Formats: sequence, C-alpha cells, structure tokens
Amino acid sequence: MSKISVNDLNLYYSEFQALKDISLNIDVKKVTALIGPSGCGKSTFLRTLNRMNDLIDHVKIKGDILLDEENIYNDSIDVVALRRRVGMVFQKPNPFPKSVYENIAYGPKRNGIKNKGQLDEIVEQSLKEAALWDEVKDRLNKSALALSGGQQQRLCIARALAMKPEVLLMDEPTSALDPIATAKIEELIFDLKKDYTIVIVTHSMHQAARISDKTAFFLMGELIEFDNTQKIFTTPKDQRTEDYVTGRFG
Ligand code: ADP
Repeated sequence: MSKISVNDLNLYYSEFQALKDISLNIDVKKVTALIGPSGCGKSTFLRTLNRMNDLIDHVKIKGDILLDEENIYNDSIDVVALRRRVGMVFQKPNPFPKSVYENIAYGPKRNGIKNKGQLDEIVEQSLKEAALWDEVKDRLNKSALALSGGQQQRLCIARALAMKPEVLLMDEPTSALDPIATAKIEELIFDLKKDYTIVIVTHSMHQAARISDKTAFFLMGELIEFDNTQKIFTTPKDQRTEDYVTGRFG
C-alpha cells in the first residue's frame, strides 16, 4: 500500500530543472532508498516530500505529491503539521546545544505538552525507540553535544520520533559516522520500519542493498529505475542502472 504517491513531479531552481517528471509510490512501513551520483537530485527529491524546498528562494514545483491521498502542495495544507507527520533527519547530527532531555522534549513542549510526567514518558519512549535509552538514561541532563557522533545521530532520530511522525526522511544519515555507529543506525532503521515509512538518501549502494525494500535510481534529475531493491542490484532493466550499481561510474 502506498503512503506517498508522487505524480509527474518537476522541480526548478530558477531556470535549472533539478527533477524531471518523477512518478513513484512509496510503500507504507517499508524502507525506500534513493541512490545515484552526486548532484542527481536525491536530496532535492527527498525535500519535496515534506516541503522543505519551500524554504529555498526561486524554487518552482509542478506535479503533485499525495500523502494518504491528500495533495501536500494544496494551499490549504498546514506546512508545520505536514512536517510533524513527515519528519526529517539530516546528514550531520545536529542536536540543539541543550541537554539530552531538552533535545527530545523541545518539540512536544512547543506543541503544547506541559505536563512533566507526560514529557518524561515521551523522552523515555523516544530514546528507547531510537535504541539510545540505555546509553543516556543516567545523563539526561548533560549536554547532548558531549555524546559521540553516532549517539548524537540517534538522538536526532529520537527527536524526530518524539513528534510522532508517520514518515521519516533521512538524508545520508550515516555519512558522517564510523562503521560501528553506521551499523547501529542501520539496525535501528530496520527496526523502525515496523512502525514508520522511511525514505533514505544514501551514497552507499551497500547500505541501500542492506536496509531497503525498494530502491530508486536517479540520474541527472531523472528517475531511471524504481523497483524492489533486490531486483535493482541483481537484474536491473536499464543499462545505466546496471553500470551504476556495478560501480562503472559514480
Ligand atoms: P544529490 O542529493 O543527488 O547530490 P541535489 O538534490 O543536492 O543532488 O542537487 C541536484 C541539483 O540541483 C544539483 O545540480 C545541484 O547543484 C542543484 N541544487 C541543489 N540545491 C540547489 C539550490 N538551493 N539552488 C540551486 N541549485 C541547487
């Protein structure tokens, strides 16, 4: 079943067309990976899914993106509410310079939750979901900036989960991390798809092959091929996909 349905999406930065006629469906509670060489439009595409490109000047978007059948580019859409439903985790861990606890509680507080017991519960639950609780439960009031890079990234995932999103967008979430921290995040992503729809940009084909159910291969703003991950990596239909996944260009 589709959680998000993208139809004939075109995106321009001023005159430059960064996305060309993209159509694809993102399955509910699955991991969809976006792969392709640098500059092919992966991040741009990811950002269209929660309207992060709205924050960039001179962006023009045509086509539509349905989230549970509702067009997120309708004028009537509340963009703040949309970004709550479609959360995002970035390449570099970017915790607030605040305590571990405050990093998680910040969003729910801004949403009007004031009850301390309720906030404590959200903090614990989110940290557990992000597989970080055991490592930080005794230092909730210490600065988040004292955590390791991998812990900071799991904290950012926990912060996103605290908003109770339905979809989680991840833009190369492990590219700044060492192999052990990367493996932890990959395991976490695998667990999270029980409850969330995940879309991940990755420059690592191994990562896409390991963790995703579906893979979309982009090239110069076009979606060249979109299929089950196993198919993309073993018997792709398009020669360009094959050349890319076998490392003939990058
Ligand atoms: P990828 O994530 O695959 O590396 P991007 O989505 O970042 O690719 O970029 C796709 C294309 O759009 C590139 O040519 C890039 O230079 C261009 N681009 C990205 N962001 C902007 C922007 N804010 N303004 C103008 N051009 C941009």
